[in-house]
Amino acid sequence: MQKPIEIAGVTITPGSRQSIDIPLPSFYTNSSVNMPVHVIHGRRPGPVLLVSAAIHGDEINGVEIIRRLLVKKSIDRIKGTLIAIPVVNVYGFVSKSRYLPDRRDLNRSFPGYENGSMASRLAHVVMTQIIPHTTHIIDLHTGAVNRENLPQIRAKLQDNPELETLARAFGVPVILNAELLQNSFRAAAFDRGIGVLLYEAGEALRFDEVSIRAGVRGVLQVMIELGMRTRSKRSRQVESMVANTSRWVRAGQSGILRALVGTGTKVQEGDLLAYINNPLGENTEELISPISGIIIGKTNLPLVFAGEALFNIASYEEIDQVADNIDAYNDELDPNTDERLSDEPPLV
Ligand SMILES: [Zn+2]
Repeated sequence: MQKPIEIAGVTITPGSRQSIDIPLPSFYTNSSVNMPVHVIHGRRPGPVLLVSAAIHGDEINGVEIIRRLLVKKSIDRIKGTLIAIPVVNVYGFVSKSRYLPDRRDLNRSFPGYENGSMASRLAHVVMTQIIPHTTHIIDLHTGAVNRENLPQIRAKLQDNPELETLARAFGVPVILNAELLQNSFRAAAFDRGIGVLLYEAGEALRFDEVSIRAGVRGVLQVMIELGMRTRSKRSRQVESMVANTSRWVRAGQSGILRALVGTGTKVQEGDLLAYINNPLGENTEELISPISGIIIGKTNLPLVFAGEALFNIASYEEIDQVADNIDAYNDELDPNTDERLSDEPPLV
């Protein structure tokens, strides 16, 4: 039997679950603000997995991923502990913004200080109240506004075979071996010896059913890999391939973008990705892929300025294999045909 866990002054006994509100600086209207946390504390000791979302307040796919996770019946009887924070950046979530009201990026403000900026204080709450309990983290993100990401795991995999095993267990076709950004949540957790899987999928301020399904399934599969849940009859799962670099293709000129390739598409060096022309249809630029790879991110807004990042291409040696994996994966998660992965009606 494991010991009770105490978070923000609330004690959760083994074999129970509880929602907790962690107090944050209030609004200037005098309304109080809390960070909502749900803890499932298993009877038997095991890993303590933190699943967090909306560190960027407008990246909301993860909020729905956590909701679906917490209503799963099997989640009641886990080994170890699951800490779920569906909305970390409560202020940004309320204002539908990536940032804090002071325009800082929470994910560049870790580990934070007690008396620092607003973002720094919020980071400090996470680092002092949650992280000391935590052994593993899955942090849920999406692309930016009008920018869509193919579901992918980003993690620093060098010298970390355990994290690579977990990244593969998540079960999305694309893994990006990504360096740590200074003052990011990932970097702060890494300094405390905690590996973070960052899941990127879909677009800010939108729900994307496939990204959400892939996220729920990914978290559940990581929990199996960690020994928190027992392995049920394993579904057929696509193989993940690790890319070590990705490259943004930018607009050479301002204009109207006509994209010819979407996320998940295989491209060869020299392939035509898009046209950019002026509103009269003149002065057309042909946007050519500088490398061979898979499109893992793309703008969805056809109005672009020179220099704007339009397509993110991950380099792979085995492009055909990755493209096949992505096809298999899309078939598997297709809400129109799949009845096994989700017992909820698909969101459209
Ligand atoms: Zn993000």
